Amino acid sequence: MSTQEYFDQGELVAVLTTQPLDRTLDYKAPEGGCFLGAFVEVPLGPRKVLGVVWGAGQGGFDLNKARSVIRVLEVAPMREEMRVFLGKVADYTLTPMPAMLRLATRAPGLGDPPSMRKVYRLGSGEPDRMTDARSRVLEVLRDYGGLAFTLKELAEQAGVTSSVVKGLVKQGAVREEDSPRDLPYPQLDPNLPGKDLTEDQAEAVERLQVGQQTGRYGTTLLKGVTGSGKTEVYLEAVAEALRMGRQALVLLPEIALTAEFLTRVEARFGARPAEWHSGATMTERRRVWRMVGQGDAQLVVGARSALFLPFRDLGLVVVDEEHDTSYKQEDGVHYSARDMAVLRSAICGARVILASATPSLESWANAEAGKYERVDLNSRFGVAVLPEMKPIDMRAEQMQPGTWISPSLRQAVLQRVEKGEQSLLFINRRGYAPVTLCRACGEQIACDHCDARMVEHRFLKRLMCHQCGETKPMPDTCPSCGVEGKLAPVGPGIERLAEEAETIFPDANIAMLSSDLFGSARALKAKIEEIASGDADIVIGTQLVAKGHNFPKLTLVGVIDADLSLHGADLRAAERTFQLMRQVAGRAGRADKPGQALLQTFQPEHPVIRAILSGDEEGFWKAEAAGRQAAGVPPYGRMAGIVLSGPEVGPVFDIGTAMARNDAPVRDVGGQVFGPAPAPIARIRGRHRVRLLVKAPKGAPIQDAIVRWIAPLRLKGDIRLTVDIDPQSFY
Ligand code: ADP
Ligand code: ZN
Repeated sequence: MSTQEYFDQGELVAVLTTQPLDRTLDYKAPEGGCFLGAFVEVPLGPRKVLGVVWGAGQGGFDLNKARSVIRVLEVAPMREEMRVFLGKVADYTLTPMPAMLRLATRAPGLGDPPSMRKVYRLGSGEPDRMTDARSRVLEVLRDYGGLAFTLKELAEQAGVTSSVVKGLVKQGAVREEDSPRDLPYPQLDPNLPGKDLTEDQAEAVERLQVGQQTGRYGTTLLKGVTGSGKTEVYLEAVAEALRMGRQALVLLPEIALTAEFLTRVEARFGARPAEWHSGATMTERRRVWRMVGQGDAQLVVGARSALFLPFRDLGLVVVDEEHDTSYKQEDGVHYSARDMAVLRSAICGARVILASATPSLESWANAEAGKYERVDLNSRFGVAVLPEMKPIDMRAEQMQPGTWISPSLRQAVLQRVEKGEQSLLFINRRGYAPVTLCRACGEQIACDHCDARMVEHRFLKRLMCHQCGETKPMPDTCPSCGVEGKLAPVGPGIERLAEEAETIFPDANIAMLSSDLFGSARALKAKIEEIASGDADIVIGTQLVAKGHNFPKLTLVGVIDADLSLHGADLRAAERTFQLMRQVAGRAGRADKPGQALLQTFQPEHPVIRAILSGDEEGFWKAEAAGRQAAGVPPYGRMAGIVLSGPEVGPVFDIGTAMARNDAPVRDVGGQVFGPAPAPIARIRGRHRVRLLVKAPKGAPIQDAIVRWIAPLRLKGDIRLTVDIDPQSFY
């Protein structure tokens, strides 16, 4: 990388663009010159594309042919620390730099000049004649002090038409001004009083703040039982970062979480933070991106890609629910936001807080090894106690065919309904039934493009493929044998469970919570708030409900099938079951009434189920760690998944076989190659998928080996290869 910081007009600069090229391109610096890191617009063929000045030009060609940078965009240049970060993520995940730059510029209209809009304030003139409507407008403006409103906001607040406001403008009683659209975010005040902390919480806060004050990198695992006040505690670390004049980022796994969270931030700091997620409007995204870069957003609350925002001085990253699998992006750039948060913080001297009630084995092991500090919160806040956990042995229950709620569970729910308390029935399956079977020929309806069964969604009256999203109407006749009226649902999904609940609890108010049942994130948020306010007797939910929501009236959690995720090819099956069951159970009894969690299982003696019930977490992790250590798998060994895909299975397999035969680069670093084998989902969207797995000792330079291994490959036609370093799911 160049050490030159500034380039005069006409000097040759190397520009990294967002276009899929394997190198930077040389251009002449524009009139007025440009800084290293400047965001620029450059010509590429007939088009104009976005780029960043990456260093001095390479030259080596006729300089008269060099084209000029068209213009420098009016945004803060990319800081060196960000360039280093993007480079390291690219090396770690084997991602080309243009794709990294795309990830770091995911806001539209970055090149647009700051646009203006009209705003309205109190003027000095007097209206000729005072009407009710006019006085309401002036009242609103006086009530809000010096605040400026848009026309729409002001008219709405005052309950008048916009012509009333316009009339007042003419008379000078209201002032119309031009104001930039991308406004800085309101100042957060870290010195507003926080909540009174318990002794445990205060001690945790003290340790986090002392770390924050060092101004140096460090990671802390904040392990606290659900409801122990982890959020309250890490907000105090955020306060400390803000007091030091640095920025903070809080990553959350699920956008549905943010409504409640934003309210808590506002209560603590007096204003709302910047929000970054897929549900945000384009204008909002652009504002966040710009304001973060110029230091006018102190706190960002966001989804994983917020990690690639151009912070001016990032001092703290909190990864809440750090074990959550949604932190791993599995398309495009395959990265783990949790791991990359640690990387970014190490580069820019920030602190990291990984918060969870059920940490990932990776983080637990890093804390054991002394790489991370560990802070524990062992009891729930206030009078709330952890729920009692009990198994329901399904072998002993009298079940009618086609039903899933056992008599014991039913009894427990009825007791809660009578007392006006809420129950949650948890099943981690969307739709009505996972399988549709023809009772005449035995056919199970499958997706035409994927190696997956279609899932009936009765709510939508369609069959849906959960791999590719393809849907088709529910047929009356079997597509295989043509017999009519013999198609039958097999097994339960959330919709079918709701149907059962409606028959056995006819007087109860039942709410369903599943990501696909709501048209928008907003509608989902509204539903969650409605449930939290106590509006339902029984909530039926998928794993969406496991993620940190507070339902104060909830006192019973019934897990329909605790065995569901125990069996999988996945090396993390036990860990996932353990986390999910404890998280779901943690939804119960978060306020003043004690909670209970009942787990329906056919194998109450299974070691994982026993560990869940006994709550012996350290014991579970130690056993799990020992198992993985013996097998040499993460976090005690390294792994990478290679997926080859293409429209014909033969050629895809041939390449896989050739790769396995020429695996010297992997063996050179002490690694092994497994496969090729059909991937667990052998076909998605009509593409056949073949998988190779690389296993290597911890510390082996696995990326270098893979680069050397795949470099000689010539992928013909429509065959694609993707590499997933540290794969989280195996599909
Ligand atoms: P966690 O993040 O560990 O699940 P939260 O921070 O959400 O826990 O706390 C659980 C509940 O207890 C929240 O409603 C929170 O406002 C409340 N709470 C926690 N600590 C305190 C405190 N010191 N004072 C008042 N309320 C608290
Ligand atoms: Zn499909």
